Amino acid sequence: MPDSPLATAPAEPQQSPPEIPPEKLDPEALKVLRHLRRNGHQAYLVGGCVRDLLLGRSPKDFDIATSASPEEVQDTFTNCRLIGRRFRLAHVYFKGRKIIEVSTFRKNPIDEIVATADAGEPLPEGDLLIAEDNVFGTDEEDARRRDFTVNGLFYDVSLEQTIDYVGGRADLEARTIRTIGNPEIRMREDPVRVLRAIRFAARLGFEIEPATAEAMRIHAKDLSRCAPARVLEETLRLLRCGHSSRAFQLAREMGVLALLLRPVAEFLDACGPEEAARVFGLLATADRRVREGTPTDDSLLLATLLLRLAQPGKDSGAPAIPIEPLLQDLVRSSRLPKRIAEGTRLLVLAQRALLGERRKRGSPNRFVRSRHFPDALALLAMNAEVSGEGNEQLDRWRQRRTTVEPLHPAAAEPPGAEPLRVPLPEPLSADRPEAFAFSHLL
Ligand code: ATP
Ligand code: MG
Repeated sequence: MPDSPLATAPAEPQQSPPEIPPEKLDPEALKVLRHLRRNGHQAYLVGGCVRDLLLGRSPKDFDIATSASPEEVQDTFTNCRLIGRRFRLAHVYFKGRKIIEVSTFRKNPIDEIVATADAGEPLPEGDLLIAEDNVFGTDEEDARRRDFTVNGLFYDVSLEQTIDYVGGRADLEARTIRTIGNPEIRMREDPVRVLRAIRFAARLGFEIEPATAEAMRIHAKDLSRCAPARVLEETLRLLRCGHSSRAFQLAREMGVLALLLRPVAEFLDACGPEEAARVFGLLATADRRVREGTPTDDSLLLATLLLRLAQPGKDSGAPAIPIEPLLQDLVRSSRLPKRIAEGTRLLVLAQRALLGERRKRGSPNRFVRSRHFPDALALLAMNAEVSGEGNEQLDRWRQRRTTVEPLHPAAAEPPGAEPLRVPLPEPLSADRPEAFAFSHLL
């Protein structure tokens, strides 16, 4: 019997299934990737989007890494602008203000030191802090200069496969945050990575690999040498990540909180476990809001972190910490924007008025109509949930809200009107403790 033609046909190359379902990829990011490739450049999805898609999560944004220089990217797209000096990259614009960020493959400017350390040589003493980040490189070098293995994966959309130079797939499986390369060097060259590791561990529910955790504990103190704006941004990202309760507990356990927000760390050390549980419980209620997608601005997030310090329970064992000097210090030393500090101050001080502990001057209805009222009430509700305090007042204010005619937004804030601004006061002096009470706004 003649052989079946099928039996002798050469085997078809095995096409493995896409590692990421194509329908999960962003159509505009795909356009950018294809256009770069048609123009002869390498181009991959990279970073957080690959990590999140492989975990079955929705990415916040889709970033692209390419062999094209920033100028070549600009020449390839009409809808493109170059940004950044320390780290020059391209923004490609689409309808609806959508931006796809395209960065050129870079290498770590202190690559030789990293190689020496990886070969087992002793680490050099002295400064490893990276000041400049514009040395272009290959795709592999670009993967290796990234912070954690799970953030160092590329996705090739034409092959529908990941490119893994750093062991990121294995660490995603093992649910582990691990630096790429020597953890001590990687933390020394950019101590902000200490905060980033905490955020990813909290948000993804991953463990931090022991050597990485050890380097974090040792080098957290170097955070003071980083640009305050970067430290502040990563701190706010801890609050915004939807898992801030776990993030701040981790930061406390690792000794990072004392360096980041000393008064919070000291309060937690001074108070009893019940009060500490309320502090983290309040963050957990804010996390729920964030995860549900309820708009929650930075002032409210910071207020959930600080409220119990300003207003501890009677059983807490720790004295109350005045909120205004604390916020002023954050404005001065951490460059917290005044706008956020003022919002937090109003929300925290409003609680005493809402609880009826402060005599209210002016019309309470005016307060109910003010644009701060919804967040102040939300904070009252969150605090009531974790402490059982203020439930009656909460019902009363909710009732009042239903009877007070809300101001038309246009009437509350006429076009061009300055938003309500309360200048941050000088530190309160002992003889004028009430000088900046919130009640003058009621
Ligand atoms: P998120 O989903 O929270 O935005 P992300 O991983 O996208 O997380 P980004 O801060 O947006 O984080 O940074 C994008 C990518 O750039 C990271 O995934 C990482 O590969 C790289 N990266 C960012 N900051 C650093 C850093 N300080 N050191 C090294 N690589 C970094
Ligand atoms: Mg990102």
